[in-house]
Amino acid sequence: MADRHTGRCFCGAVEIEVLGEPEEMGYCHCTSCRSYTGGPLSAFVLWKAGNVRVTSGADLLGSFRKSEMSDRRFCTRCGGHVMTLHPTLGFTDVYAGVLPDIDFLPVVHLNYAETVLPIRDGLPKESDFPAAVGGSGAIMAE
Ligand SMILES: [Zn+2]
Ligand SMILES: [Zn+2]
Repeated sequence: MADRHTGRCFCGAVEIEVLGEPEEMGYCHCTSCRSYTGGPLSAFVLWKAGNVRVTSGADLLGSFRKSEMSDRRFCTRCGGHVMTLHPTLGFTDVYAGVLPDIDFLPVVHLNYAETVLPIRDGLPKESDFPAAVGGSGAIMAE
């Protein structure tokens, strides 16, 4: 039986489940994440798209797609952010705060060139995205 974690939006009407192990956990410092979340960065848990399922409240899940890259999903009742689909990559980011019982073990910072909150934690700082997903792969100093 694979690992299974459940998550929910701010009001609890939308519930999701994630199966197995995440692909990666980390922080994104990009201006889009800041603008969307209202925070100085976002903490993400990245999954293969097929390992994330909406188990309750799917009819309340709104979507907003500013770019082809990111299809953001939120609860239309409470406004809580739930996840961001990356259809072109086949991955789904679930905000770490949406999965309260997962051990958040970040391994990377993304889009560090755009940071407004430098974090000196010794983790690699990708200038934008890793080369494997179309980024420059450049690593910055903290
Ligand atoms: Zn909600
Ligand atoms: Zn971002």
